[in-house]
Amino acid sequence: MAFEQELEKRSGSKCEICSAQEGLSVSEVPHAPKTGPDACIYVCSKCLGQFEDLQNLDLKHFYCLQDSMWSEHAPVQVMAYRLLHSLRSDAFAQGLLDQLYLDEDSLKWADLRLVKVGTKIGKVKIINNNNNELTENLLFVGAESVEQEIAS
Ligand SMILES: [Zn+2]
Repeated sequence: MAFEQELEKRSGSKCEICSAQEGLSVSEVPHAPKTGPDACIYVCSKCLGQFEDLQNLDLKHFYCLQDSMWSEHAPVQVMAYRLLHSLRSDAFAQGLLDQLYLDEDSLKWADLRLVKVGTKIGKVKIINNNNNELTENLLFVGAESVEQEIAS
């Protein structure tokens, strides 16, 4: 990926979520309004694995969000928001979520949630806060919930 070096530099060669220094790779934050580095985060394999199942996050691992949620970079903020949102039954996570400030565009991006998915790369229906529906053919790692499969 051409912009991997840019992300490496932006992150200081650390996971932008938990600061781990090993197993780093570029991950696209789903439904980004932009492309390239502005759509991606640089993360470790542990975090990346967690993103694939937001319903079963390792809460302890994500205490690191108390630092990383203050990142100045929108994709990191958006991912922090989605993770904290998934963890919000925990009072600590809810407390962080209450403090997290996202600008309007980032909040719109962060709030897109997945309601249906076929396969991992397939047609999905997503609904934003205003109940506007958008249909995309994308891999939605980091979407909030996967409710049912679309019969194709
Ligand atoms: Zn990490």
